[in-house]
Amino acid sequence: MHYDYLVVGAGLFGAVFACEMNKQGKKCLVIDKREHIAGNIYTEEVLGINIHKYGAHIFHTSNQEIWNYINQYATFNRFVNSPVAVYKEELYNLPFNMNTFSRMWNVKTPAEAKGKIASQIADLHITDPKNLEEQALSLVGTDVYEKLIKGYTEKQWGKPCTELPAFIIKRLPLRFTFDNNYFNDLYQGIPIDGYTSIVEKLLEGVDTRTGTEYREFIKANEETKEITFNKVLYTGMIDEYFDYKLGTLEYRSLRFEEEQLPECDNYQGNAVVNYTEREVPYTRIIEHKHFEFGSQPGTVITKEYPAEWQPGDEPYYPVNDERNDALFKRYEELARQEKNILFGGRLGQYKYYDMDKVIAQALIMVKEQREGSEE
Ligand code: FAD
Repeated sequence: MHYDYLVVGAGLFGAVFACEMNKQGKKCLVIDKREHIAGNIYTEEVLGINIHKYGAHIFHTSNQEIWNYINQYATFNRFVNSPVAVYKEELYNLPFNMNTFSRMWNVKTPAEAKGKIASQIADLHITDPKNLEEQALSLVGTDVYEKLIKGYTEKQWGKPCTELPAFIIKRLPLRFTFDNNYFNDLYQGIPIDGYTSIVEKLLEGVDTRTGTEYREFIKANEETKEITFNKVLYTGMIDEYFDYKLGTLEYRSLRFEEEQLPECDNYQGNAVVNYTEREVPYTRIIEHKHFEFGSQPGTVITKEYPAEWQPGDEPYYPVNDERNDALFKRYEELARQEKNILFGGRLGQYKYYDMDKVIAQALIMVKEQREGSEE
């Protein structure tokens, strides 16, 4: 069997690439080491509810072309992300907006809220923030920082905010309107049949093998010579591809604890609830049915625990600090020297990409391949 492309990874990047190449008459074989397609956007039905197995995924974009693209493969509902934060006995709306401020200080007008924040910032006398704590305090003042940022950030990074660099937080958007919509994007929603269905449609007519790890596949194929291919698109970890020969790129990981509650029809009244206290070990609880305005008799919740990452763990968030970015550049250099291999997606590019950006990047790669083959 001969293929134009061996696509490693059946996530969104690999699937968009394979779909578009297939449309152009190029034959692709997609492999994934997981037992399912769709990578991190995988959803699975439990108690009649689509469960986001690898963390809450909300599609949002202001890019008309990408919105039109994804709408070929899904119908989106009217979900708007409006998370709630729990700090001890207090509940706040996110992102930080007039609902948050009025709950925090009983203020009624934007001028009062701005005055409160400005006076807290002025009292701190921070002129040159030396760490994340000072940076955040100098942007939002004491109350918002202590109640809504400090504990959550420390859990996410596994370090005190005083030991984290200031650059992690460049700005902290404060909204002086009563608007709980987390995203400013033009389009937002959740695909009505779940994300896996999108990837199934993208991969229609494309040969796909799950439970197939790249190296093992190559090794077995060397013996059988069953498959030949011209090029590889690799959407796994770039350092793993090169056997970590220049060193290991670091990630933050997550642990998900899923609970089925067949007797409870509404656990928390919202899809996403953040727990901002340091003492609560998880950062958020997702109640999946609220992504879809579900009316099932039961519910499913997932607690999200940030975790240290060790090689072999699931890599979720790249740690784009100076050391890792410099190391990635060196791996990119190695990649340029390799023949007939492309690296794409969040792991291949060592960058956190939202889904719309992943689609856009995959479409650019498709275009480059087409132009390359026409030359
Ligand atoms: P992946 O989905 O990771 O796909 C890569 C695939 O390659 C995986 O399936 C993996 O098993 C496979 N693979 C790796 N190595 C090998 C190998 N050696 N052999 C075979 N297969 C291999 N984006 C949004 O737009 N909105 C959100 O709300 C949002 N929430 C997120 C929440 C979390 C917790 C995380 C981590 C990400 C979130 N994202 C969100 C980003 C979104 O998940 C990514 O944009 C998208 O999944 C990236 O697709 P990908 O194909 O690059 O990577």
